[in-house]
Amino acid sequence: GRAAVTARTRTTCGYCGVGCSLEVLTRDGEVAAVLPDRNGPVNRGHACVKGRFAHGFLRSPDRLTRPLLRRDGRLEEVTWAEALDRVARGLRAAVAGGGPGAVAAISSARATNEENYLLQKLMRVVLGTNNIDNCSRLCHSPSAAGLTASLGLPGGTDAFEDVERADCLLLAGANPAEAHPVAGARLLRQVLERGTRLVVADPRTVGLARHADVHLRPRPGTNVALFHGLAHVLLTEGMIDEEFLRRRAAGLPELAVLLDGYPPERVAALTGVPAADLVAAARLYGRAERPAIVYGLGVTEHLHGTDGVRALANLAILRGAVGTGRGFGINPLRGQNNVQGASDMGALPDTLPGYGRVTDPAARRRAGAVWGAPVPERPGMRIPEMFAAARAGTLRALWIMGENVCATDPDAGRVAEALDACPLVICQELFPSETARRADVVLPVTSWLEKDGTFVNFDRRFQRVRPALDPPGEAMSDFAVIHAVAAALGADLGCPTPAAALAECARVAPLFAGLSHERLDAEGAVPWPCPDPAAPGEARLYRERFATPDGLARLAAPPYLPPGETPDDRYPLVMVTGRRWAHYNSGTMTRRTGNLLLDPGDRLDLHPADAARHGLADGAPVVVESRHGRATLLARLTDEVPPGQVFCAFHFPGSGVNTLTSDHTDTVTSCPEYKVTAVRLARG
Ligand code: SF4
Repeated sequence: GRAAVTARTRTTCGYCGVGCSLEVLTRDGEVAAVLPDRNGPVNRGHACVKGRFAHGFLRSPDRLTRPLLRRDGRLEEVTWAEALDRVARGLRAAVAGGGPGAVAAISSARATNEENYLLQKLMRVVLGTNNIDNCSRLCHSPSAAGLTASLGLPGGTDAFEDVERADCLLLAGANPAEAHPVAGARLLRQVLERGTRLVVADPRTVGLARHADVHLRPRPGTNVALFHGLAHVLLTEGMIDEEFLRRRAAGLPELAVLLDGYPPERVAALTGVPAADLVAAARLYGRAERPAIVYGLGVTEHLHGTDGVRALANLAILRGAVGTGRGFGINPLRGQNNVQGASDMGALPDTLPGYGRVTDPAARRRAGAVWGAPVPERPGMRIPEMFAAARAGTLRALWIMGENVCATDPDAGRVAEALDACPLVICQELFPSETARRADVVLPVTSWLEKDGTFVNFDRRFQRVRPALDPPGEAMSDFAVIHAVAAALGADLGCPTPAAALAECARVAPLFAGLSHERLDAEGAVPWPCPDPAAPGEARLYRERFATPDGLARLAAPPYLPPGETPDDRYPLVMVTGRRWAHYNSGTMTRRTGNLLLDPGDRLDLHPADAARHGLADGAPVVVESRHGRATLLARLTDEVPPGQVFCAFHFPGSGVNTLTSDHTDTVTSCPEYKVTAVRLARG
């Protein structure tokens, strides 16, 4: 008979930001099954095809199990001692040659909070620079900036179970049915079984859009105009909460003046959304008793992404639907498992753990007192600036922890140039990824199924991550690697265990002061803010006051400005990129699992009318060209995309989708404009 399962480990999924609790059943050190945890606070016994089935990568034959060092142009296996010696010598030489600003690190939403905390501490305390950023730069940095400016904190406003009590849901720029399947299923149930009215703002007819009461299909890059149009109708039809606005918000007069310029007819001309649909959507949201906004990267990944977040937040503020319990605010669907946590832990060039600003002497003093070392004052470089500095020759060492930047960052050809120009590229990786192959030192690390620590999910819940398996070969956790690099540099970072690291972070950051591994082991999940070990965290924000300096929510009045690229005669179509259900980001993990059978390659979705114009049949190779690059994909004919637009994912680096995307970035946060690239097509 079959041998019995020998261990069960409860942990948190390492794919998307929903944060499903999983039970990993192992037999003799191998995964026997991954099952959804019936008691999981978010998933309640459900999981998607990624969480349940995408674990075969663990035993993939090309899993990195020994450090690699570049010698004579080739990566060769070496001992940890040799690799760490090269890293330490390289970092020291970079600082000696160019000062602390000549080194930089890219941290990761794939890594735990404790690993993010430790890496930012090493960069600040040991190397003396704020040149640390994480991949939220590429997805939700506009959420952090926009929500902080409007409401005070860089997270969603309400717990997911509260969002489910909404009687009207405005879902903007998100396809949770594929990108956050368990959350998508819960929202779908809410719409179909509980009668929640649904407004979807998304160019594509996918997922929940098929069930929308009103589906707004704005031209990519016109969100700000669209949201201002909705606000215009709220204001002119009296669907605002005047008392709330008087007591708890600022900025209405300025916004009212701006909104005069966004009547439905003008917004229709700017966005392509019929005026009647805009009015119908505004009335659904405006007349609901408990409206909620949920949004995704379709709002953030734009030249004016932060403006988009703020214009969307205006709607919740106008309705008094945030911080009052009469509605459920505005809630970003975080893409990666720990994208919230990576930023929470201070893996950002301008903020410390818990969002104290590096320019604030009090925040620096508090962190410096715990760390026993001064904290650098000057904000560091953001990811795009790091690549630019590498190309310019001023960045001499780049340390990348768990990000496949050569496949996922925009204008990927320029990213490769940056890595090639940098004298030392250190890469912590599971596999010989596109990025690892360009590195000088590759350090083999553990995956989420082999780690100890915590993640923060999309509604700000800290949850435990526990190792179900031993690391393969000589692979070490990112946590252990960071400690080892510090030791090679002659430094001791303290906090020898992940539990000790979170405990130390709790001393640095009042926002997390009440959190510990012990507490999470006992309670399962705890949301931040959590300033008190004896009190529950705050799942619902702003009941008393907003976290802005004067306690008021801030209505914003940014004018609509066009996207970085607009179609023209040479590049007449707009390409939007996003995720599909079976894979995850650059697919480094999911492509090495059975999920490959479900989705074997990137395809270009295009409308049958556009396909006919180009003589393209379903399944035919199609060459996509932008001003930045060229890629060949297989055509998928579908009316999910409107004429004039094409859509593709970026899960297969070989397809080269991110060589097409532009280097336009959000004017506030430098988040790339993945959602608007002008392209042309030809038969392949
Ligand atoms: Fe993992 Fe997200 Fe799927 Fe849940 S919905 S199992 S967190 S990928």
